Amino acid sequence: MELETKGLVFDIKKYAIHDGPGIRTTVFFKGCPLQCLWCHNPESWKSRAELGFRKSRCTGCGQCVEACSHEAISLIESRPVTDAEKCVLCGRCVDVCPAGARQIIGRETTVSEVMVEVERDVIFYDQSGGGVTFSGGEPLMQPDFLLALLKQCRTVNIHTAVDTSCYAEPEIVELVAGRADLFLCDIKHMDNEMHERFTGVGNNLILENIRRISQADKKIVIRIPIIPGFNDDSENIEATGQFAALLPGVGRIDILPFNRGGAEKSARLMGEINSMRVEAPDEDKMSEIAENLKKYVCEVNIGG
Ligand code: SF4
Ligand code: SF4
Repeated sequence: MELETKGLVFDIKKYAIHDGPGIRTTVFFKGCPLQCLWCHNPESWKSRAELGFRKSRCTGCGQCVEACSHEAISLIESRPVTDAEKCVLCGRCVDVCPAGARQIIGRETTVSEVMVEVERDVIFYDQSGGGVTFSGGEPLMQPDFLLALLKQCRTVNIHTAVDTSCYAEPEIVELVAGRADLFLCDIKHMDNEMHERFTGVGNNLILENIRRISQADKKIVIRIPIIPGFNDDSENIEATGQFAALLPGVGRIDILPFNRGGAEKSARLMGEINSMRVEAPDEDKMSEIAENLKKYVCEVNIGG
């Protein structure tokens, strides 16, 4: 029965090399309890499928308007405007759009369907020390689906990593820690108030859960997205290093330079997302942060 457990994913990426060791397949879960202003996957936020639109590709041909039998699309000043209330996500407008400007983001799938995709590349995992990474969005938001996938991977001997914000009920974290091989845990900021201002939630539960995973003897890679003006000051970097140094499970810290991809992607979504207007950190700054963190954890990678 567990093989038929359903979940909502928005992408399955093959041959990923930045989501854990070796060559991996990354399964992106849809739905996230955080809304980080710099998010590079804003299509992951909502826990339901949605219609995406790339304004830059649209030629204003109007074929989507004709195709929609629910009268959800109107052409206003040569641009299609979709009424989300009327849209039933049938996908007809996506199929007819000659410019590839429309996309359904998110699909319901089962554990067995995901495993078919994942198991196709076992040979690459075996050769490279890779496996599968469950990412998002937030995989811990769909615990039954995640636990069933982890169990299945263990049955067929595939290494698993969970890429998580750690913002979840402690009971769920403990159950997942019992089945996953590796955790990639994000720390965005050590100050609770700053964390809440920029992500929508505080960090107390997150830090508590990272400690919990370490106590469960799991391997952890801490991942810090470096966002200039938010978390790149030495006080925050030192505090993150000190926190990591106290956790025996943490073997490495990855620092990930902010990129502007999220802002471009957010424009594809129908809803308004207030992406931050910041620039990527320069190489010198990233090296300075890496050197600072090496005082606390021996392995620090720039870019994961
Ligand atoms: S997905 Fe279907 S209902 Fe929604 S706008 Fe497109 S054609 Fe209309
Ligand atoms: S079919 Fe595609 S290109 Fe034509 S108006 Fe609709 S979204 Fe734009």
